[in-house]
Amino acid sequence: MSHANNINAHNTSLEHFEVWFLTGSQHLYGEDVLKQVAAQSQEIAAALNASSDVPVKVVWKPVLTDADAIRRTALEANADDAVIGVTAWMHTFSPAKMWIQGLDLLRKPLLHLHTQANVALPWADIDFDFMNLNQAAHGDREFGYIQSRLNIPRKTVVGHVSNPDVTRQVGAWQRASAGWAAVRSLKLTRFGDNMRNVAVTEGDKTEAELRFGVSVNTWSVNELADAVHGAPESDVDALVAEYERLYEVAPELRAGGARHDSLRYSARIELGLRSFLEANGSAAFTTSFEDLGALRQLPGMAVQRLMADGYGFGAEGDWKTAILVRAAKVMGAGLPGGASLMEDYTYHLVPGQEKILGAHMLEVCPSLTATRPRVEIHPLGIGGKEDPVRMVFDTDAGPGVVVALSDMRDRFRLVANAVDVVDLDQPLPNLPVARALWEPKPDFATSAAAWLTAGAAHHTVLSTQVGMDVFEDFAEIARTELLTIDENTTIKQFKKELAWNAAYYKLASGL
Ligand code: MN
Repeated sequence: MSHANNINAHNTSLEHFEVWFLTGSQHLYGEDVLKQVAAQSQEIAAALNASSDVPVKVVWKPVLTDADAIRRTALEANADDAVIGVTAWMHTFSPAKMWIQGLDLLRKPLLHLHTQANVALPWADIDFDFMNLNQAAHGDREFGYIQSRLNIPRKTVVGHVSNPDVTRQVGAWQRASAGWAAVRSLKLTRFGDNMRNVAVTEGDKTEAELRFGVSVNTWSVNELADAVHGAPESDVDALVAEYERLYEVAPELRAGGARHDSLRYSARIELGLRSFLEANGSAAFTTSFEDLGALRQLPGMAVQRLMADGYGFGAEGDWKTAILVRAAKVMGAGLPGGASLMEDYTYHLVPGQEKILGAHMLEVCPSLTATRPRVEIHPLGIGGKEDPVRMVFDTDAGPGVVVALSDMRDRFRLVANAVDVVDLDQPLPNLPVARALWEPKPDFATSAAAWLTAGAAHHTVLSTQVGMDVFEDFAEIARTELLTIDENTTIKQFKKELAWNAAYYKLASGL
């Protein structure tokens, strides 16, 4: 169980990723035109790299002019773990039969960038040399045809790279591709099984490994307890000092306080969990309050701190939500806001002011606030263990998205709801857990009815870093059903989508 090279498996940095920029042309127009194609496509790749909307390095590749080079490039992209996707642009006319083998072999996300070198038509100067050089308007139509004929999932972005709408869409797709790369390489560690009798947190782990590439495996919680109880005392000292420096630690938990030992035990859980996951090369995990073995507390603050470091997490054995949290962490890397396990808990049903109060027993990620969390200890009515330590805070207001993953037997289903996280109407002085309050789009009743009709889970990831667009791209890349609930949703239309999808996904999966 020693994979020292995976010690940073939970990293969310996008720095080591690349997207290859492929330019299509052919030899029909002569070497001078190909030189101009090369120079202009390098300028477009450079413009993407210069945009702050575009988080992943774009690597320009030599212009592709024949089927063999295209096929080899696709295979090289497949084989290189740093390559999270491929962007293609047909600068001139690149006959699309040349692309059949390459596209058929390509296993990385594809973005079709439909652009051109110039913004304005050079009205006074335009001649047929210009027309031969700048013909993406129909070169990309040829490319679109072959992608559609081969049924290649892809994102199509249209416009000049100087247009911020273009770079924003490219950036969203890159983030989705990075999330996909993170999921494809994800090893998920479960401590204990799902909460007894709960249906929606179940799922087909073998199918998940095929569809998403994620490897989901279970370890005895007492192996974790051994790591927790074996954590060196000096490490516990250092971590407790860090807590007191970073957070508003309740006086009873501070050094010299009556319950300081509980904070020390919480630090011990963090040290044990962290070392266990690092040794496993795991970037996501689950716990179960029904299966704590020799652990004295349900992991609370430890889970919160690990999520803040980029780990995916699902409570009560919910590995599907742990996948979503991990993907959201990577997709949102470097952006303001955060991502966390969330659970729809209870409602404010005053007419015209309806809101959802989300929280969990303990495990909400402090990346959802820029404020300094309080560290508190309170009883937990379930689990039969000692009182657990947890961080308490309010989620910062702003736009967000909640996303759930259900196993519908023949397929996985993503459901995403655009929300506005809002400030609390009034303080919640007696609520002993971190929380988020949001108004779902298009309105509370439509959102909840659509969510229930779709069979979406009570556990979600709440991201305040990325929006619906990134999850839409992620679903397309993952070839996974996504139902969106946003400002345009009506129940009438949503039910039709469910019916159409039921037929579509049965047909698309073949016999
Ligand atoms: Mn729960």
